[in-house]
Amino acid sequence: MILRDSENSCTFKDVWVLAEFAGGKVHNVTYELLGAAKKLSDKLLRKSRVVCLVLGEGTGTAAEKFFHYCADVVITVDDVSLKTFNDTVYASVISRLVKKYKPEILISGATSRGRSIMPRVAVLVETGLTADCTGLDIEEGTGLLLQTRPAYGGNIIATIKCEHHRPQMSTVRQGVFKAPVPDNSGTGEVIEENVLEAEKKTRISVIEESFSEDKGINLSDADIIVTGGRGVKGPKGFNMIAELAKVLKGAVGASRAAVDSGWISYTHQVGQTGRTVQPKIYIACGVSGQIQHLTGMQSSDFIIAVNKDAEAPIMKLADVAIVGDLFEVIPEIIKLLKSGIQADFKKLKTTAESRD
Ligand SMILES: Cc1cc2nc3c(=O)[nH]c(=O)nc-3n(C[C@H](O)[C@H](O)[C@H](O)COP(=O)(O)OP(=O)(O)OC[C@H]3O[C@@H](n4cnc5c(N)ncnc54)[C@H](O)[C@@H]3O)c2cc1C
Repeated sequence: MILRDSENSCTFKDVWVLAEFAGGKVHNVTYELLGAAKKLSDKLLRKSRVVCLVLGEGTGTAAEKFFHYCADVVITVDDVSLKTFNDTVYASVISRLVKKYKPEILISGATSRGRSIMPRVAVLVETGLTADCTGLDIEEGTGLLLQTRPAYGGNIIATIKCEHHRPQMSTVRQGVFKAPVPDNSGTGEVIEENVLEAEKKTRISVIEESFSEDKGINLSDADIIVTGGRGVKGPKGFNMIAELAKVLKGAVGASRAAVDSGWISYTHQVGQTGRTVQPKIYIACGVSGQIQHLTGMQSSDFIIAVNKDAEAPIMKLADVAIVGDLFEVIPEIIKLLKSGIQADFKKLKTTAESRD
């Protein structure tokens, strides 16, 4: 929708978060985005509300929780036609509601669903979309949404504005923002909307929907991540990384160089083209810290880097930088941990938690 001078930004109001609701569950990125939306709405020039839009079947149960995570209004579209995910149906419903309520900002998780729906909505309502943002803010003076993301293969960090169209739309990866501490007393207004018959007509028919069950530790949820880079030198080196992760009850991460070398699977990759993580403790072993890697882990609470090059970029970002050969340092740490200094690591984790 074009923002004309005669139809100034007053026509468009509120910050919307498109909730991810699948298989009866709310994806954690929704809560993270609600917290971010609250910060954005507080900075907007005019008073605006945080509105959570949720589509699916049985969405009513989720609505109350959104109020605990900063939502002022929840718009629910509860319909059996939304039980299985069909991006064209979802996009038609969302774009109609966007045209009806005219939000100033609309954000969603850069999940596979968000990535599928948001470009369709952007086209249907004729506005822009900044995908995979690593930061969102409001520009002082103009009140425009500042959408930050890596560009040109991660060589620059670009800040993108959408000046003439509304809503300003972005997708954001899980882990970029922290979910706020829930306020169980939070309440708000619920608006119920429907799916129109015409919107149910689609050329795509979903035959079956199944959810993958990741048996390993989910990187995005891990409190401690031990990551290996090219310096680990091979799959054998990753056994040592895995051992350290196990002692610390953490997860194993990897740089793209390690993944591309075939030493570990892609599901472990941290960075621009991997996962975005924000653990309490991130231990980078033999990782140089190129921008594409840092993009995925720089929000970690406490960073420890082990590298033989004191000048590696990761060493400047690290809270503790250990200069040395990881093949000497890591076994020593494992030995110390096994012989009973876990208490110190627990203390470190608590310190990191208290800095939240
Ligand atoms: C479009 C694009 C997307 C990308 N996405 C990602 C991404 O998602 N994630 C990602 O990680 N990268 C990504 N990259 C790649 C990124 O640019 C780097 O190439 C990569 O992160 C380097 O991995 P590394 O730090 O393991 O290897 P290197 O840069 O080679 O660093 C290895 C480090 O190990 C140290 N070292 C070597 N031996 C030892 C030892 N014995 N003891 C201690 N230290 C040692 C070295 O001093 C060096 O600092 C992307 C690149 C592009 C262009």
